[in-house]
Amino acid sequence: MQIECKGISFKYDQAANALENLELSIRSGELIALLGPSGCGKTTLLRLVAGLLPMQEGELYYNEQEISSWAPQKRNTAMVFQSYALFPHLTVSENIAYGLKAKKFTKSEVKKRTDDYLSKVHLKGMANRMVQELSGGQQQRVALARALVLKPDVLLFDEPLSNLDEKLRVKMRREIRMLQRESGITTIYVTHDQEEAMAIADRIVVMDAGRIQQIGSPQEVYSNPKNAFVADFMGISNMIDVKGEKRMFRPEHIAILPSGSHSGKVKWTEHLGSIQQICLDTDLGEIIAHRFTTEAVEDDLKAGEIVHFELAGNGIVIE
Ligand code: ADP
Ligand code: MG
Repeated sequence: MQIECKGISFKYDQAANALENLELSIRSGELIALLGPSGCGKTTLLRLVAGLLPMQEGELYYNEQEISSWAPQKRNTAMVFQSYALFPHLTVSENIAYGLKAKKFTKSEVKKRTDDYLSKVHLKGMANRMVQELSGGQQQRVALARALVLKPDVLLFDEPLSNLDEKLRVKMRREIRMLQRESGITTIYVTHDQEEAMAIADRIVVMDAGRIQQIGSPQEVYSNPKNAFVADFMGISNMIDVKGEKRMFRPEHIAILPSGSHSGKVKWTEHLGSIQQICLDTDLGEIIAHRFTTEAVEDDLKAGEIVHFELAGNGIVIE
């Protein structure tokens, strides 16, 4: 299913526009990530696509058919939320089978499909458990199976992994990606997590204040951010004046060396696994640098130390 958003604007009550003249074409089978800070309009767009909010301005097309005013049931979309919204009084397999029964599939078809998706989300041994007895990750797997089992034309995810811990998030996003590829269902995946969007999406739509800032592959958006907002959101936090021109440098492009053309004083440091994140007070302003840590604890930089550095590469010129 191909999805086309044409000139979509949306406003809640007297508030400012939650979406502003949004233009977006989603290819069939594509996984698009909507990425942006809280309040930028991601959920609003998902709800318009699902038909859960009325279209006020603009048009929505599924495969060139205008569906702006279609009821949600007619659109054949399935949604997975952050809160799993499972039926607490039903078992795992009853939760997954629920939608199929509602659609009047035969008993044997319901069983076949339910079993199939139970094993796809690795919950075969838990079919008869009550969903409250499951961990957060397992509950999200049930929610995922419940959505996929209906074979929707469009899958919509609204920050589905936000309630899970980091390790599980990484694992689940891979599983979601694999299941999505396998099924070929056109998918819109909302997240505020840059890394998650990069890992999961064919293309990323970066949004701010109801507007699309950039659309591109993860690599395009990361390497060629169109403006300062996208650059900052993609983790390029250092704006540095190079010969009178503003350029942005990623933390990993600040090379801390025994000697260098610039120097600064360490303000604070944080450990991010294999790297140390360092905030420096420098002649170029405040700079965030990343440095691979070694095994040796005494190699850590500490607040107050003076360090030298070079700018690696030419940085990114921002319009
Ligand atoms: P996101 O999902 O990116 O966090 P939303 O689409 O939920 O953003 O919200 C976009 C804007 O619309 C925000 O300014 C938000 O406060 C506002 N908004 C969202 N839902 C409602 C609502 N039900 N009533 C009024 N304003 C809303
Ligand atoms: Mg939201």
